[in-house]
Amino acid sequence: MDGPRLKYRYDHYTWPEIRELVARQPVCLLPVGSVEDHGHHLPLDTDNYLINRICDEAARRIPDEVLLLPPIPYGFEDHHMSFPGTITVKPEHLEAFVLDITLSLAHHGFRKVLLADGHGSNVPILDLAARKTIIQSEALCACFIWPSLISDLIRKTRESVFPGGMSHACELETSVYLYLNPEAVDMTKAVREIGFERSKYYWHDLGAGPKVRMVEWWTRISRSGVVGDPTLATAEKGKLWFEAAVDALVEFIQEFRRFELRPKLDLH
Ligand SMILES: [Zn+2]
Repeated sequence: MDGPRLKYRYDHYTWPEIRELVARQPVCLLPVGSVEDHGHHLPLDTDNYLINRICDEAARRIPDEVLLLPPIPYGFEDHHMSFPGTITVKPEHLEAFVLDITLSLAHHGFRKVLLADGHGSNVPILDLAARKTIIQSEALCACFIWPSLISDLIRKTRESVFPGGMSHACELETSVYLYLNPEAVDMTKAVREIGFERSKYYWHDLGAGPKVRMVEWWTRISRSGVVGDPTLATAEKGKLWFEAAVDALVEFIQEFRRFELRPKLDLH
């Protein structure tokens, strides 16, 4: 590492210090992202960059209540492999890898583990890994994808059409990236593309999930990689959504830390 050790970073401690920290039961926070096409205007690191910045900022604000783990930078991307540069990890590998990490934490005595997701297709995998952690250990394990933390705010403040304006490399992701690092965003190349079938039940939108779920082969619904409307993105909206996501994450970490660890009763 460069500079001093940070209080909220799991891997900045020595092993005897970790042994002492277990008594305080901080929430272990594991970011999971992706290396994936995000249109012509955003870099491949978009999901990693956004989820890492949100987690880092939240952890920095409550360093005694959380331990931020080194992130997992790759996700499940098979349906995006038509786009040069995307790296995919098979769902069963990702699930097993995440579970190895959460069970390691439980082995050392940590009892609250939170999986922070930056990439939509990781959701069902992390959900299963969290459930298996609970089944196979004494720890509680929860997961979320960050836009879900602020879905009420998004509904009230978005300008793009619902559903569809916020799915991938969209108004939401582009706005937050513009706020955090405008140098890496090329708005001259941002295009609106909402190519999935119109339906009352099926859609793609990070603001609110569909009634019927389907994730298609991506080039069937997008040529640019975008699903949504990044042309409406602004740094101002990015600031609003980023700060709200950080606030919500801080609040949930504090809540989750207080969750009671009830015994698993066998009622035979
Ligand atoms: Zn993304």
